Amino acid sequence: MSAHRLRLIVIVGGGVAGLRAAERLIERGYDGRIEIVAAEPHAPYRRPGLTEGLLNGHVSPAALRLRARLEGRVRWHHGVAAVGLDARARRVLLDDGRYGPYEGLIVATGMTPRALPGARRATDRVQTLRTVDDALRLRTTARRVRSVLVVGGGLVGAEAAAALRAGGTAVTVVDIAPTLLHDAVGPRLGVALTELHRRRGVHVVTGATVQAWDHAPGEIRAVLRDGREIGADAALVAIGAHPDVGWLQDSGANAIDGVLCGPTTHVVGLDDVVACGDCARWPNLRFDTVPQRVEQWATAVAMGRHAADALLDGPRDARPFAPVPWGWTEQWGVRIHMLGRPLAGSLGAVDGDPDRLRGALATQDGDGRLVGAVVAERPAVSVALHRAIGAACPKPDLTDAAAWRPPAPVSAAPAPAPRGHEPHRPFVERRRTAPAAA
Ligand SMILES: Cc1cc2nc3c(=O)[nH]c(=O)nc-3n(C[C@H](O)[C@H](O)[C@H](O)COP(=O)(O)OP(=O)(O)OC[C@H]3O[C@@H](n4cnc5c(N)ncnc54)[C@H](O)[C@@H]3O)c2cc1C
Repeated sequence: MSAHRLRLIVIVGGGVAGLRAAERLIERGYDGRIEIVAAEPHAPYRRPGLTEGLLNGHVSPAALRLRARLEGRVRWHHGVAAVGLDARARRVLLDDGRYGPYEGLIVATGMTPRALPGARRATDRVQTLRTVDDALRLRTTARRVRSVLVVGGGLVGAEAAAALRAGGTAVTVVDIAPTLLHDAVGPRLGVALTELHRRRGVHVVTGATVQAWDHAPGEIRAVLRDGREIGADAALVAIGAHPDVGWLQDSGANAIDGVLCGPTTHVVGLDDVVACGDCARWPNLRFDTVPQRVEQWATAVAMGRHAADALLDGPRDARPFAPVPWGWTEQWGVRIHMLGRPLAGSLGAVDGDPDRLRGALATQDGDGRLVGAVVAERPAVSVALHRAIGAACPKPDLTDAAAWRPPAPVSAAPAPAPRGHEPHRPFVERRRTAPAAA
């Protein structure tokens, strides 16, 4: 179907990527229907603000709400999750028994935190952190208890640890890596950040994993692989997340570790479906041809907008999505930028004093191109390095996108809709839960 004739676009996922996609459709003059299926009951909000403000009570949920120019054009289906995709019939199957017909579909379902085996069974005072409800629950728990164990010292774990500790809670972080944020900022800034956390009173245990949980009344006991035990009143499991794409199984899309897209964000095998944000795995041809996911706010914003363009332009005319990705983390008042592909090679200092969290490190790939950097508290250097990475790794064009081929064969023909979801009724039918009043 020519993209210009689209009259009904469904967006699955009401996070920032889905929201920005809707906004862009309207900006582009698309005047058909837009339906957003959003599993969370809340309007879209600024997820990074959960650890940078909400957890320590500095901001309210209302202050995190995202603004968007939607001009009353979007129909929201809050608290409804997609459970399947019948790509042949062009409809999304919903968990309330309805289905959403579409002409164009935007997949923007983000991520779900990974659970740690045994943790839930141990006690309900063990939780994960992805949504505003998770953050409010953790905040309430932290106010009631004296100590919290954080399992995982990546971006979410380390930011949450700082927020909880700053609020007066005793915090222990356990991570398998040699430093906090090792896989986000590399070893050198990782060491500096770990020291900063320790100076502020966070107990950091590195090179360790939780092997088992012991349940004692009012206390959690995590047993580490080396036999050590850590006791706490509550625990946060922050060991990463996996893409929320289970509902795309059997749809014809390759939904292993994110939904596989081509360079334009079109889902491989499904020409009228695009994907964006954390759940999308796509080749950023600025760097290489290997599909990868990026879990960063700014990329989700840009990709949501790009996916809307790609859907309207169609697979032949759409441009490749090839940003220089950038993300940030803020802990104990120190802001760090991650630019491009910082961990593609070994990082070397290029500015200031990175060991004191005031400087920059950069990395080159095997061809000697500047491909990534991490920058602490040097905003101007960060902007300059971002530009320099863009210049060293130039934007691809339509020809590069057309030449790209998916790495593994995927089934071209969408499979039939999963069994057990029929009969589904369209969105337009409202389900009645109580008899209408006479
Ligand atoms: C606590 C926290 C702190 C962060 N801090 C930073 C930071 O400092 N810097 C940074 O760059 N990035 C940060 N991030 C990452 C950033 O928030 C994400 O990259 C961004 O939110 C991704 O946007 P998205 O729209 O792709 O996914 P999401 O924001 O996850 O939105 C996806 C939405 O889809 C919904 N959904 C899922 N499945 C379905 C379904 N089947 N049907 C319907 N709806 C569904 C989900 O409920 C969710 O509301 C942080 C993330 C977290 C969790």
